[in-house]
Amino acid sequence: MSEENSQGREYTLEADSELRFEIEQKDAKVLVTLLSGFAELFGTELVKKKKYEFGVGAKVAIFTYQGCVLLVSGKMDVCYMSKETPMVQYVNCHAALEQFRNEAEERDGRGPVVMIVGPMDVGKSTLCRILLNYAVRVGRRPLYADLDVGQGAISISGNIATILIERPASIEEGFAKTAPLVYHFGHKSPGGNSVLYNAVVSKMADVTLQSMDANKRTKSSGIIVNTCGWVKDSGYKHLLHAARAYRARAIFVLDQERLYNDLLRDVPSNVHVVLLPKSGGVVERSKGLRHESREQRIKEYFYGNLRTPFYPFSFEVKFQDLRLFKIGAPPLPDSCMPIGMKAEDNKTKVVAVTPTQALLHHILTLSFAESNDDDVIGTNVAGFCCVTDVDMERQSVMLLSPQPRPLPPNSILLWSELQFMDNHA
Ligand code: ADP
Repeated sequence: MSEENSQGREYTLEADSELRFEIEQKDAKVLVTLLSGFAELFGTELVKKKKYEFGVGAKVAIFTYQGCVLLVSGKMDVCYMSKETPMVQYVNCHAALEQFRNEAEERDGRGPVVMIVGPMDVGKSTLCRILLNYAVRVGRRPLYADLDVGQGAISISGNIATILIERPASIEEGFAKTAPLVYHFGHKSPGGNSVLYNAVVSKMADVTLQSMDANKRTKSSGIIVNTCGWVKDSGYKHLLHAARAYRARAIFVLDQERLYNDLLRDVPSNVHVVLLPKSGGVVERSKGLRHESREQRIKEYFYGNLRTPFYPFSFEVKFQDLRLFKIGAPPLPDSCMPIGMKAEDNKTKVVAVTPTQALLHHILTLSFAESNDDDVIGTNVAGFCCVTDVDMERQSVMLLSPQPRPLPPNSILLWSELQFMDNHA
């Protein structure tokens, strides 16, 4: 039921239903206030009487287990209430994970690693957010690993990342992204370099599984792993690889029976594979929209958002000071490889890149590695720059960076396929 008054429209939601809305118009602003009852947004509880503000791009569902009244004002493109939601199944999954966590606590073992898999736009990242929020709300400290290089939920796309979740996501801004562990991949699809993708995932899995043991609470809380929406052919093989690397205890499959059956066949029988429905509210994005949202994440990395704007810096770096590398050399037939090396080894080789005009607009990853002989693949990323100009005459590039200082001497930069047009200058 909904009623219009001078402050907006009041929506009365029954138990186990949700209000969904989308904002597409630029500069549109929607304010939501919980007037009575209890409600949550993807697992984060709304505080009564507090005004929450949403802007363009928001695709939101506010769910209630007990029933509630919401006051909503502003211009939305879509807004409706729905009683058809899979939230009860999702909360049951949380309950099952809690059982594993309790068992882990009793025997001082590792808590469950659960992978969320499914095609694109089925609500994988949203389910991760819900499960992580439920976990922290009952006092857990889980890790969140994001292997989706297409739409990075933690870092910008082209990278995989892990963060420790210590508090529920903010309603408006999601999880705090403090101190993430980020590994460079450099492509927006694992197919850009499959061998490298698997190597980076293995590295991330090894490091995070080991680091879990250092903190008792995190150890028993486990890891929630978000994955790419590419689930066919090589995409499927990447999922199997990740499940092995993380020693997944459970795999939650969203919305695809075929993938569910394939996994049941291919993973060891002690891995719990569960098929879950997707929410009818999840919005499908076109290729163009997906591209836009990737750009938006990069823009936010450099410029922040309306609530917290950032002011990035630009500086010139001479070609002679630029230590730029790319991971993966062009393929050579096995017969041309040095003895003992396979063509696959070339795919993870760190090779120097000669600067040319082609670098323009590319994102470059600043690595913490001190030399290209270090384990560059397994070294944390310090941040990102964007090439805003290449001057062949001056033999220099202009870099956009969130840091005021020029790069530390001998910094290693890694080439990324991702590009960003900086229209702010
Ligand atoms: P995936 O990770 O599978 O690509 P996402 O979790 O990113 O999918 O969901 C796609 C979009 O749908 C996101 O913008 C998210 O906010 C939105 N969304 C998810 N669940 C709902 C829902 N129940 N109602 C409305 N929008 C939703």
